[in-house]
Amino acid sequence: MRIVFAGPPGAGKGTQAKLLADNLRIPHISTGDMLRNSDEKTELGKQVKMVKELMHRGELVPDDLMVRLVSERISHADCKGGFILDGFPRNINQAQALDKIMDKAAKPLDVVIAIAVDDELLVQRIAGRAAIEGRKDDNPEAVKERLKTYHSATKPILDYYKQKGTLETVAGNGKIEEIQLAIRDVVSRVDSRGEKRLEQTS
Ligand code: AMP
Repeated sequence: MRIVFAGPPGAGKGTQAKLLADNLRIPHISTGDMLRNSDEKTELGKQVKMVKELMHRGELVPDDLMVRLVSERISHADCKGGFILDGFPRNINQAQALDKIMDKAAKPLDVVIAIAVDDELLVQRIAGRAAIEGRKDDNPEAVKERLKTYHSATKPILDYYKQKGTLETVAGNGKIEEIQLAIRDVVSRVDSRGEKRLEQTS
């Protein structure tokens, strides 16, 4: 299955995407992790290094760089059976670019899972994560900026996918295991819809 995880910073996308990816045995592709872990010796890594300042401030890095990174990553053999994208797309432009890539491969996205959490809880969660992970963009200023960016640039993709009929929303304020179960319910529902489509066309 080809799945996108959407939702604000601190919603638990990374945790949930990883659990689901392990369960479905497909790669979990986190664009934030790709940027943070990029090898500075490669050409792409050098470009990522130039945009690290934007990341630390909580701003988005340029779309063309992200689209290239993702397009290259999902062309790998391990993504043949599907993948989970976490942190991409982050705006309408990236969503449209992803559609083009998937159209070209004749492999549309199966579902976009949005994890919904109130801003207040997000701030608390990010503060907790900052104490554990020490991410440079988990400081109060950058968190404010990331939430602002989410509301202005990223949230509109939810409507974009809603109109396409691929959006499913899961409440993200419960326990990790409960949220994962709700996500798996969504995935099986979408999966059986896909099978029905296949049955009808065969
Ligand atoms: P994340 O780990 O997903 O919260 O991403 C951390 C930071 O990486 C973001 O605040 C952005 O600066 C950058 N980033 C990650 N994914 C994207 C993307 N799809 N488009 C632009 N910037 C991104």
